[in-house]
Amino acid sequence: MSGDLPIVEDFHTVPRSPKLELKPNLIGQTRAELEISLLGVGIPERQLKMRTTQIWSWIYYRGLRSFDGMTNLSKSIRDTLSENFALEIPKVVTKQISSDGTRKYLVRIAGGHEVEIVYIPEKDRGTLCISSQVGCTLTCSFCHTGTQKLVRNLTSGEIIGQVMLAKDDLNEWPKNEIDSQNSQRLLSNIVLMGMGEPLYNFESVRDAMKIAMDPEGISLSRRRITLSTSGVVPMIARTAQEIGCLLAVSFHGTTDEIRGKLVPINKKWNISELIGALKSYPRLSNSERITFEYVMLRDVNDSDEDAHRLVTLIKGIPAKINLIPFNEWPNAPYKRSEPSRIKSFSEIVYKAGYASPIRKPRGEDIMAACGQLKSASKKESKSKSLIQEEISEI
Ligand code: SAH
Ligand code: SF4
Repeated sequence: MSGDLPIVEDFHTVPRSPKLELKPNLIGQTRAELEISLLGVGIPERQLKMRTTQIWSWIYYRGLRSFDGMTNLSKSIRDTLSENFALEIPKVVTKQISSDGTRKYLVRIAGGHEVEIVYIPEKDRGTLCISSQVGCTLTCSFCHTGTQKLVRNLTSGEIIGQVMLAKDDLNEWPKNEIDSQNSQRLLSNIVLMGMGEPLYNFESVRDAMKIAMDPEGISLSRRRITLSTSGVVPMIARTAQEIGCLLAVSFHGTTDEIRGKLVPINKKWNISELIGALKSYPRLSNSERITFEYVMLRDVNDSDEDAHRLVTLIKGIPAKINLIPFNEWPNAPYKRSEPSRIKSFSEIVYKAGYASPIRKPRGEDIMAACGQLKSASKKESKSKSLIQEEISEI
């Protein structure tokens, strides 16, 4: 029998993928963690601060993804780093660019999970909408992400990695001194408004945003980062103290009954508890105002009475109200409010002294759909052509 078996003459070993070796990823480590990592591979204690600064600058200022190019480190240090650590960010699976310049990336993270990132260019800024979780444990009834089971929290490396891959794609790492003085940035703002509840993944989000703000790296001002929460009340003060970014809150309902149906976390922390936490935010974070996000759902939360109740509730809080026309998805239980209804709502809020912009159905509107197209494509088996059609409508 053995004579019938094929004889393999040229049998050679395929090298193992370095990813399978699971080296610790330096991307996403705080400065303090990076120091500990370096100490662990024999970098002398007296050099730690200097080496950390050098490596930090290569990774987050220059955007380098290999240790070989870190030319101010000796060859032996570079070899040690390559042997022991990885520099990994999420991988782009697809990239779509709409006619108005909006870019949508579908990216893959460890374990094969996928999340979406949206880049929205405007005249005076470029905003990146990033995700903090794969899916979401919360189940807001108007949100498509909420229909997906939570798969997992993203690591800090996967969160800051989303910013880094957008900078790669925009070719926005300074190559020389002139580049670094260029003040008009393509990626000037970050919004945590993609998939997931950022305050249910607090430490990773905080560490990633601290990296984004670090003046020797990506160096985004804390006033250019907005974290959106559905209302995780106990974490709001910590957000002010430990991140200090701007805060947006998914408000959406003006009575506990309505808000409880739309944003079920309201049953845990109701409107009055939420308002209490929001009142202290500007002082604790030294920021000017809070953004109230309000999705406009036909005949559910869009009456003039709702608008009046809203301005009464937020009295005393420096605020801006973003009115978001509902972004419909397959089998969604709601409809978008009529434009005239949204306008009337907006005028009441405006007359009460608050900016009340209506999120544009094009361009900016893709942000409302942040994280949702992916779940649509997975759950409803949307055809590629339908997705393409939707993207080009944006
Ligand atoms: N989990 C966080 C951040 C992600 S959601 C939060 O809830 O705040 C980002 C924003 O998109 C939130 O204000 C959310 O309420 C809104 N949103 C979700 N689904 C939407 C839809 N179908 N149409 C319009 N806005 C939606
Ligand atoms: Fe989660 Fe935010 Fe969607 Fe609610 S609106 S389900 S908190 S992602």
